[in-house]
Amino acid sequence: MAIKNCPKCKKIFSPVGGSVICPECVKAEEEEFEKVRTYLRDNRGADINVVSDETGVSTKKILKYLREGRLEVSEGIADFLKCEKCGVPIRSGQYCRACSEKVSKNLSSVLVVKEENSNKSGAKMHIRRK
Ligand SMILES: [Zn+2]
Ligand SMILES: [Zn+2]
Repeated sequence: MAIKNCPKCKKIFSPVGGSVICPECVKAEEEEFEKVRTYLRDNRGADINVVSDETGVSTKKILKYLREGRLEVSEGIADFLKCEKCGVPIRSGQYCRACSEKVSKNLSSVLVVKEENSNKSGAKMHIRRK
């Protein structure tokens, strides 16, 4: 069985399911995300800096959640998150819709781009269901 050094805590572990960090760090990360999620559930539309202060989770990590599509910012918050290809403001993930369509077309013509199902207003940030 392959073993790896956890890049976060330097412990040796055996990766399961393509995990790059050890189970303990995965758990810690999940707990942090859970804190942010719980906070946003009670404080819909909270500013990222406030969320960071209140949860103790860095804004960098919260941005990562946004990039991963686990959270999203609402419309009207321009320049918060930008498409990594063309720089257009986006709400979640890495690319704007046009670019993600191009990207997925390049990957496979069969792939269909997931439709944005939300046009909710009022919240700066909210939880996206998995
Ligand atoms: Zn670790
Ligand atoms: Zn784009």
